[in-house]
Amino acid sequence: MKDLTPLLQQRRAEHRYRQRRRLDGPQQPEQLIDGRPVLAFCSNDYLGLANHPAVIAAFKAGADRYGVGAGAAHLVNGHTRAHDQLEEELAAFTGRDRALLFSTGYMANLGVAQALLCRGDRLLQDRLNHASLIDAARISEARLQRYRHADAHDLARLLAHDPERETLVSTDGVFSMDGDIAPLPALADLCAQAGAWFMVDDAHGLGVLGATGAGTLEHQGLDQARVPILMGTLGKGLGTAGAFVAGSEDLIETLIQAARTYIFTTAMPPAVAEAARTALHLVHAEPERREHLRRLVQRFRAGAAELGLALMDSDTPIQPLLVGDAATAVALSEGLLARGLLVPAIRPPTVPSGTSRLRVTLSAAHTPAHVDLLLETLKRLQPPA
Ligand SMILES: *Cc1c(COP(=O)(O)O)cnc(C)c1O
Repeated sequence: MKDLTPLLQQRRAEHRYRQRRRLDGPQQPEQLIDGRPVLAFCSNDYLGLANHPAVIAAFKAGADRYGVGAGAAHLVNGHTRAHDQLEEELAAFTGRDRALLFSTGYMANLGVAQALLCRGDRLLQDRLNHASLIDAARISEARLQRYRHADAHDLARLLAHDPERETLVSTDGVFSMDGDIAPLPALADLCAQAGAWFMVDDAHGLGVLGATGAGTLEHQGLDQARVPILMGTLGKGLGTAGAFVAGSEDLIETLIQAARTYIFTTAMPPAVAEAARTALHLVHAEPERREHLRRLVQRFRAGAAELGLALMDSDTPIQPLLVGDAATAVALSEGLLARGLLVPAIRPPTVPSGTSRLRVTLSAAHTPAHVDLLLETLKRLQPPA
């Protein structure tokens, strides 16, 4: 049994010690963190639905109707009408044959890889993919190879090698630390030519991108034929919790039969499914949320450019400011916090060394005045361009 104390101390010495802050009250821009009021620019609640009255009401009504716990896995007797309806609505929303709920996006990613691949198969992934996709490779026992970020040529090179091997290519739709969008049409073409599965994890695109909010695939005009596997999460743009995989009838049936992270876990609380149904309705019915968010992104980018700040190539609500070294990024984040603004510093090993950054995320719940306050405060702190 190893001694944990020195390992923790070493982590601390390496400035890699992670700590939680305590939030009192709901997820919203003006919040109470560790007992003090802050204006937060770090939530994934992109449309401001986590604390929306209609979503809360649906959650309460769901609890009245179904109780709290699902009480069992989907394949036992935990699969309620609420889950079923949400799956049908997600399939319709994303233009796919069927959708299947998972308790989290992390588990959905693990489940897809494990159900479709086995030892000897391969998984090709963008270098900047989310940690859950990387872990999916491990659980599937397939061989993981990573291609250069957003680089279709590099993927083509990997695909050309060993073309007979069963292959799953997976990518984030919107990259969580950079905010840029994957070149999905080019990747989809390569996968079709190679006969490889293609999967998009649209955790940060769903609800946010596309004319109806259906995400990165809608934004880039891609249907189920070109992207057979879509994973979307409900805890970000939809403000609730959980995730789904959408695709063909056979894909969904295969996941039900074989995905261990689907089979061996309790179904999400049905009230959460009811809340997500209402959130989905709002995504559809209130396009002005997306429009407002787009205008905030433009306002932030224009203001940051004027200040000479190092914006990254992103049109999404994820707007990192490149700082460079970790110590400066941390100092800036602390300076902002001292002035009541919560913007996390992202450093290695989460991002490559020399690319430490402030990760600003915007939400439709922010006002233009919130964005202006952030810009004014950044100006006063004078971060290096
Ligand atoms: C957040 C996230 C996940 C995990 O989703 P959860 O529902 O929070 O487990 C998966 N992929 C990406 C790209 C994410 O950003």
